[in-house]
Amino acid sequence: MASLLLTDGYVVTVDPDRRVIPSGFVRVEDDRITGIGPMEEIGDVGEARVIPLDGMMVTPGLLNGHNHHWGSLFKNTGEGLLLEPWLDQVTIPLMGQMSRDDLRIAAYLGAIEQIRTGTTCSLNHVVNVNDHETMQAIIEPAIEVGVRQMVTKELRDTPQPAFSNHYEARPHVRGREEEVALAEEVIDRWDGAGGLIHMGLAIETGANWMLHNSTSDEIIREGVALAQRRDLKITNHCSAGTPWLSIKEFELATGGGDVDYLVRIGALVDNWVLVHSLHLKDREIAHVARAGASVISNPVSNAYSCDGIAPLKQMFEAGVNVGLGTDGTYVNCSPDMVEQMKFAALIQNVTHMDPTLMTAERVIEMATINTAKAMGMDHLVGSLEVGKKADISVFDLRKAHVTVPNRPVGALVFSAHGTDVDTVVINGELRLHRGELIGFGREREVLEEATARAREVIERAGIAERVFVHWRH
Ligand SMILES: [Zn+2]
Repeated sequence: MASLLLTDGYVVTVDPDRRVIPSGFVRVEDDRITGIGPMEEIGDVGEARVIPLDGMMVTPGLLNGHNHHWGSLFKNTGEGLLLEPWLDQVTIPLMGQMSRDDLRIAAYLGAIEQIRTGTTCSLNHVVNVNDHETMQAIIEPAIEVGVRQMVTKELRDTPQPAFSNHYEARPHVRGREEEVALAEEVIDRWDGAGGLIHMGLAIETGANWMLHNSTSDEIIREGVALAQRRDLKITNHCSAGTPWLSIKEFELATGGGDVDYLVRIGALVDNWVLVHSLHLKDREIAHVARAGASVISNPVSNAYSCDGIAPLKQMFEAGVNVGLGTDGTYVNCSPDMVEQMKFAALIQNVTHMDPTLMTAERVIEMATINTAKAMGMDHLVGSLEVGKKADISVFDLRKAHVTVPNRPVGALVFSAHGTDVDTVVINGELRLHRGELIGFGREREVLEEATARAREVIERAGIAERVFVHWRH
């Protein structure tokens, strides 16, 4: 039996009692945590490989509730654009030029970024995958690098008649029935793969995607039925857009917001992982709370595109479960969940002029147990407890920029970076230790190939002139 014993760590459990053990151990056997407590109670070491932590901080592996891993190739391509023109002028052209090999290298890079910033599980919102081979190209690298991911198969449809004449209603490559059948095949094939892959669905329901005629009431309802039948989570982009552009146009067309619309078509259920949720009215927040759906907030992405600040205070007051995500690195420019925690706290607090609203503890909960709950995985991950999967991150807070930490949970959020991670265990396997990836030896090659392929895709997409600028005047 493979076993690890992490010793003398500052253990932040995020368990139901929110226990912090200043000098503690975590015992791992196979893929599970089998012991946790103060060093005095460590007992027999046995055959375990001992990893001395010398006071480093041990946390549940961070969870990223919203990422598009293909975006790892396109950091810093979308600066200076609001969300709608960014999607139309940058993202959609780039997506259209991604070959299967480009997606594969992006998936390797996305997985490496994930580990190297202390994130053990990420929700990979997959866009526009229309065959088994492409899904394979996206999932296999995650398993090989050894990260946990919830991979969401997207369901698309073209509405009949078109929802909006603002954008062309191009027929989707297959009909609704075939679309649902492919999703089921993909789920059957990959759910549970490598002990690391958890399948889910992605169905766009929001203003901007409705206006693009890329989704329909029928596919939303059929997706919800599939999710309920198979107990899957469904993610989307909810109430994400510029108030005077897509959000306004949708409101004029439907008389309400994105959540109002889901309610109207009878599709708001607890399977939803509602991403962004920036412009929700109080009545919509009440609907989300009643349905038991979760929200994933992505404050850096929203600030980069200037589309808004999510009403998290009202969501907390209504009892909505709110987790945290980065969004694709083509709009966040960093997969770092520690940065995300810091920004989430600061932007919310200054918005409400209330420094007590988002504490270090609250944002750590958002990036761990709340996001696990949103993904329907809080029985497996999101806290350090005996019986849970061994997904663990160890942060070195002894570096100059964090020393003296004084209050360690505050130091993690406000002084540290994701790259301060020293050791990562995922599904019981040591995947990063003392700065070295364990079990994956091609990191340098991946970084070089990713750089070369990104340049080619940017050129093919016709946006080289906007991206490759040394200094904008
Ligand atoms: Zn997104």
